[in-house]
Amino acid sequence: MLEFEQRFATEEACFEYLFELRWPEGFRCSRCGHREAWARKRGIYRCTRCRFETHVTAGTIFQDTRKPLRLWFRAIWHLTSQKYGANALGLQRVLDLGSYRTAWMWLHKLRRAMVRPGRNRLSGTVQVDEIYMGGEKPGKRGRGAAGKALVVVMVEVKEGKIGRIRLRRVPDASGPSLEGAVKDGVEPGSTVQTDGWEGYGRLPELGYVHEVVRKESALGKNLLPKVNRVVALLKRWLLGTYQGGIHLSHLNYYLDEYTFRFNRRTSRSRGKLFYRLVEQAVAIGPVPGHDIRGRSASL
Ligand SMILES: [Zn+2]
Repeated sequence: MLEFEQRFATEEACFEYLFELRWPEGFRCSRCGHREAWARKRGIYRCTRCRFETHVTAGTIFQDTRKPLRLWFRAIWHLTSQKYGANALGLQRVLDLGSYRTAWMWLHKLRRAMVRPGRNRLSGTVQVDEIYMGGEKPGKRGRGAAGKALVVVMVEVKEGKIGRIRLRRVPDASGPSLEGAVKDGVEPGSTVQTDGWEGYGRLPELGYVHEVVRKESALGKNLLPKVNRVVALLKRWLLGTYQGGIHLSHLNYYLDEYTFRFNRRTSRSRGKLFYRLVEQAVAIGPVPGHDIRGRSASL
């Protein structure tokens, strides 16, 4: 923590950190492509050829923020240094933010940075099963799920152990929905283990080796073992960090945060997680507030 405070004691230090992440091979003008710039004050760089001025936060999730970057960095540090994540109230307290709303918005923005576009898909042997989130009892598949969220859980199995995971919300347990989730999350050619649900029947046609490892197909119970383990941990995390108080319309982002943390659970260094999150915050574009408030947008 002390090391962190020293490293990012000033706004300039934060700007420089972003500069390195944004232009690892040196400045590049976003208008003319020129490689030289004058550093002006407060994170602004002016192209020496066309004079175009770029702020180092432009096109990142920090764009147009009125708060100091130091505060953002502290938020990211807080978020990545907590083993089980952070909720808005905790963040508000730690940063001494005047508004709960700001803390809540920041967490949502940062959560979006926890997914990397074009990230690698799972490969090798992958167990796939679905669960309902929202405390509902297990039921028949294929029916509508009003007030419930169906989540496809994909778990890599490596030498009998759990590798990386992917979590993906789907509208229903139909073939097209499940196939979409698997195509998104698993590399073709991989071995996909499922139960006997017919929704997975077309996987071989999509280039997967399909193994039915359990005949029965009642939804939400008798999960495949690795999936079951991941679901238990996920539920515990949601309860512990958010007291279960999450809105289903935001579920995708919580699933992303969980995936981000889970897939990096063995990296000992918190600093690395911090670096990764700032890097991705730079890589994804700005997240306008109305994007977050617009609930249907996240579905
Ligand atoms: Zn230029």
